Amino acid sequence: MNNSSIHPLAPIGPAPASRREELVRALVRGELRFHELPKDLSAEEAAEIRRRALERVTQTPLDNIAHHSLDVQRASRRHCENFIGVAQIPMGVVGPLRVRGRCAEGDFYIPLATTEAALVASTNRGCTAITQAGGAVVRVEDVGMTRAPVFRTSGIVQTQQFLQWIRDHDEDIRKITEGTSHHLKLLEVRPYTFGTTVFLRFRFDSGDAMGMNMATIACDRAVNDLIEPGTGVPCIALSGNYCVDKKPAAINFQEGRGKRIYAEVLLEAPVLHHQLKTNARDLVEVQYRKNLLGSIAAGSMGFNAHYANVLAAFFIATGQDPAHVVEGSMGVTCIESRGPDSVFASIFMPDLPLGAVGGGTALDTQREALAMLGVTPDPERPGDAVTRLAEIVGAVVLAGELSLMAAFTSQDLARAHEKLGRGEIRTPHQP
Ligand code: ADP
Repeated sequence: MNNSSIHPLAPIGPAPASRREELVRALVRGELRFHELPKDLSAEEAAEIRRRALERVTQTPLDNIAHHSLDVQRASRRHCENFIGVAQIPMGVVGPLRVRGRCAEGDFYIPLATTEAALVASTNRGCTAITQAGGAVVRVEDVGMTRAPVFRTSGIVQTQQFLQWIRDHDEDIRKITEGTSHHLKLLEVRPYTFGTTVFLRFRFDSGDAMGMNMATIACDRAVNDLIEPGTGVPCIALSGNYCVDKKPAAINFQEGRGKRIYAEVLLEAPVLHHQLKTNARDLVEVQYRKNLLGSIAAGSMGFNAHYANVLAAFFIATGQDPAHVVEGSMGVTCIESRGPDSVFASIFMPDLPLGAVGGGTALDTQREALAMLGVTPDPERPGDAVTRLAEIVGAVVLAGELSLMAAFTSQDLARAHEKLGRGEIRTPHQP
């Protein structure tokens, strides 16, 4: 076969192996782009052809990227275009962690996927401390998922007419947005205006789903089928950054987004001394100078030790969107002195988008991780599964905070990283 004759829609030839080779060569020569492979190839075949071409172009064997148990059809159609394989991340477990929530009540083993040595060991120590102290009390507010299209008016007069129209049509807006999903409820449309710019910040209850796609689809329908034709005011972007998605932002800190989570525990002297190798006075001082003053000095919105670490590992393990760690990293850890040698520790996470269905939660390993936590949506109790997930996250983030803060008081941090991060690797050939 002449290479230049290959066309993306060429039918399957009598010799699939030679046809695959032709496609690999076409990719290598740049005659075909990775997304232009013929649609009649299976997802596995397409992935293999892309890999083979990449191996030739980059002179890099991709055996490990090829090795996985994913449903390639699903992964490549629903989750990742130009699919070539997987990035594997080690997964560890912490627990048992006692959680005293409304939907999560009991002891949990929690999977964390990370490449950061000492994170799992440290968080596990925090879990033991919390469990020995009787468990973490956790409560969750379902703030809702937000999307804020941005519009351009001709000035103040048209802005006022536009906002009046929005108020007059609140029922129509509710009907059209909620019509896009049985699981969606419109909670609020909040305007914010200046100059010739108007933002409409839509806020939705999205049931057990994180809801970003659902909110986007609902806003798209409302804007295109109702608001633009009804007002004549153009929408400039469906996301006007007043939502605000995947950026740290004061509005999300103050008003919340996704789930707003509170977790707390009282730690008395025996747990502080024996489990966390610390004491109340030192812990309170590190809290004050590090989490509070240090964050003020830096102008940070994360008045905490490392929410992002535990969240990233939890998000990857359970199929959440890792980019939302940016928002989840905001929040406040408090450690207050109680009695002679006890502390009352709490965390506040104002902005945590979470889902028990949708997104990456359907992938096989992520589904197993969620099942370990008993997070399975129940049509009879909408929203309970994701609340359970949020309560478990709250408790494990608190565990991570306590252990790291305690490590600072005993100068354990560098020692732990040195020991665990640069540990000897035993191969089967070593004794
Ligand atoms: P997201 O909107 O969270 O970004 P998806 O695009 O995957 O993620 O949408 C979630 C999907 O899950 C929607 O199609 C929704 O109808 C469906 N769904 C199924 N069960 C539920 C449930 N219990 N709660 C919310 N959504 C659900």
